Order: sequence, then C-alpha cells, then structure tokens
Amino acid sequence: MSEGPTYGFDTLQIHAGARPDPATGARQTPIYQTTAYVFRDAEHAAALFNLQEVGYIYSRLTNPTVAVLQERIATLEGGAGAVCCSSGHAAQIMALFPLMGPGTNVVASTRLYGGTITQFSQTIKRFGWSAKFVDFDDEAAVAEAIDENTRAVFCESIANPGGYITDIPAIAAISDKAGIPLIVDNTSATPYLCNPIALGATLVVHSTTKYLTGNGTVTGGCVVDSGKFDWTANDKFPSLSQPEPAYHGLTFAETFGPLAFTFHGIAIGLRDLGMTMNPQAAHYTLMGIETLSLRMERHVQNAETISAWLEGHDNVDYVTYAGLDSSPYKSRVATVCPKGAGGLFTVALKGGYDACVKFVDSLEIFSHVANLGDTRSLVIHSASTTHRQLSPEQQEAAGAGPNVVRISIGTENAEDLIADLDQALKAAHS
Ligand SMILES: *Cc1c(COP(=O)(O)O)cnc(C)c1O
Repeated sequence: MSEGPTYGFDTLQIHAGARPDPATGARQTPIYQTTAYVFRDAEHAAALFNLQEVGYIYSRLTNPTVAVLQERIATLEGGAGAVCCSSGHAAQIMALFPLMGPGTNVVASTRLYGGTITQFSQTIKRFGWSAKFVDFDDEAAVAEAIDENTRAVFCESIANPGGYITDIPAIAAISDKAGIPLIVDNTSATPYLCNPIALGATLVVHSTTKYLTGNGTVTGGCVVDSGKFDWTANDKFPSLSQPEPAYHGLTFAETFGPLAFTFHGIAIGLRDLGMTMNPQAAHYTLMGIETLSLRMERHVQNAETISAWLEGHDNVDYVTYAGLDSSPYKSRVATVCPKGAGGLFTVALKGGYDACVKFVDSLEIFSHVANLGDTRSLVIHSASTTHRQLSPEQQEAAGAGPNVVRISIGTENAEDLIADLDQALKAAHS
C-alpha cells in the first residue's frame, strides 16, 4: 500500500513499508535469507558501490526483509529514515558514531538502562568519547553541561527502570539552542505511547528486543532520524557535512538531504562496524510490531491496575509508576506519553535486599529474567543484576537501589498477576 499521512497507527503498524512480494505475490514479507544480490551488469555494480544508485549489494549493508522493518519503524516514529542493527546497544553506538570523535562528549541523563550507563561511562572511552551524566529534571544543569565538545544529548522517554518521564520538549529546547542533536531512547514507551520526534528529538533509538518484537525471541536495535537537523550549520559534524574520502569525496548532507544520517548509517556505519540485523530477526520483529498498539494498551491497563494495587499493599514501601497519582511525573504523561505511562515500573519492598530476593524467587507466573517488554510478566532485582556494575550512588540515581524490584507487566489477566504477586509478597515476609 502507499502510506499516506491519513492512515492511523493501527493500520501503519501492519502495512507501512510492506507490499506484496514482487516476485511471488507473497502477502507476508518473505525472509530474504540471502547474503548477496546479483548485479545486472558491471556498470550497475559500480553505480551501487558509488552510492549513485540505491539497491541491494550485500546483507551486511541492506536486506529486503530488514528494509521493510526499517521503513515501518521510521513511519511509526514519524522519521525520515531508519537503520536497523543487531541490538539496542548497537543502535546507541550507531547513533553516536557519525556525531562523535576523539575528545567529544555526550550529555546523558543519570536515569538510563543500566547497560547504557556502563556503555557510556566505561566502554565509549576506548573511542576517546566521554559522557557527562546530569539529572535531566535540572534543566539549568543540562544546559550548563553542554560545552564546545558536546555532540549529543541523550535520554530515555520513559526511563528504565523507574517510571521516570523525561520532559522531552524542555530538553529539546535546550539542545536546539546549543545546536546539538537530541537522541531519545524510546524503547520503554514505543512509538505508540510516545513520539519523541514530534516533541523535538533529532534521533530516536530502540532496543527492538523489547516491546517492538514483544515476545522475547530476538535481539535487535534501530536508529530513526527525524531528517530535520541541519548538519551543515556549523563544523561540529564533519562526517555528515564534509567530503567523505571513502566515497570519492561525496558529502552526505549535500547528496542525501534529510536522509543523510540514514545513508551514513548504512554506507559507513553498517559497512565498517558491521552491527547488522539479520533477516530472521527482522521477520520476528515484523510479526510482533503488527500488534504493538493492542499489546501496549493492555500493558498500560494492567500496569495501572497492578501498580495501584501494589501501592496499597502492607509489605510495599512505594511504587514508581508515572501513571499513579502519587508519582511526581504524572503531570508529564499528558504531554510526553498521552496514551499511558507504559508497562514498566519498580516496587520498593519493606525488608530491603533479602525480601526482594525471596519475593523474586517465590513468583510463579512472573519470570526472573534480564528482559522487559514481553507479553509475559517479568521481574528482575536490578541491584544484583542489570545495575550490578554501578556504584551505590549510580544505582540510587537510576532508581535501582537494593530494596527495589523492576516489574515488566505482561498482557496476562490482571487478577492472575495480582494473586501471584500477593503470594510472593507474603512469602517474602514470612
Ligand atoms: C534493553 C535496553 C537497551 C539495550 O538493548 P539490547 O537490545 O539489549 O542491546 C537499551 N535501552 C533500553 C531502555 C533497554 O531497555
């Protein structure tokens, strides 16, 4: 189908980017399980390699199954283009790579997925990049942290794990003023609940491993570009604004306009970093994404019911779900994620670390796993797992202290989940 702006989200999540297979008429997108594609002739091959013609060369760069997923996610996010890659963490590197160079920094929120804090505070140093972590509720501190070597501002829309909602329009205004792109990790919210680009973000990254796939089968990531940032406004982004020696002096911003970042992601990022999504993974994610809105509605409904029930439980200290009236972030739901605050929150138990461990071990429907965004309800004790590499101060700042359990509410019957939580809370305090 040809997508028009008139189609609704439920239609686009099924149809955007896909058309009946031109070779066979197959209605579902085939898994193009191939490494390479035959060139029409030597001239065609040369044009493809020179980026003078768009087409398939080799599946490290592009693959027709992956391309459908890229177009689907770009459409749902309201972006100009998207590049899929092998994981959410790969997407973060793919988003930063065209922007950064030795000696540059990214200004990042203290409230991020634990693995992202580790990637940013440790691993990116090997590239000569660094991160400055700031409390993104303190807008003056964010503005102050941006210096002449800052090349990106990074936050999550609904931060994992704590039910924290970033004021994206306010942060976008700060990064705009500084002429720096804002990157928003929209994994926990998904484009159904939050549209960072409409709120002013330049780039959106995803771990497609989570809600977009939705069934815990494959890892994947995606970088969506809004196509709205002017890479040539200053000399800070030479990868996009200056001639590229690896392509005979072609300049991405000039040649590809709003698709400059996307083409760079494929022609340089995937070509040389090789963090490619395979067509099987794209297939599973395409299956999942068809029901994204239906699942997210149920995730939100269950999370609202269950977080309210937990908040009233005698063995619970507090619950951090932005959909609750008790949350300091409740007022941001209407502007940032109007269809609901997602399916992820933390619960702090009376009895601290020991109670948390017993609680997690006593659950029957909920699985104790290092994942989220599955149809299945999941829990994890962040302090002893995903946030284990962090200092106690970093754990607290990220909302993952030793007394806290992260809950990813699935799409099962709420009353069954409540009964399971109830028996595990009793067991934790027996
Ligand atoms: C899981 C996750 C990541 C990392 O994604 P992977 O697919 O595991 O590499 C990044 N950000 C958020 C918010 C996540 O939940």
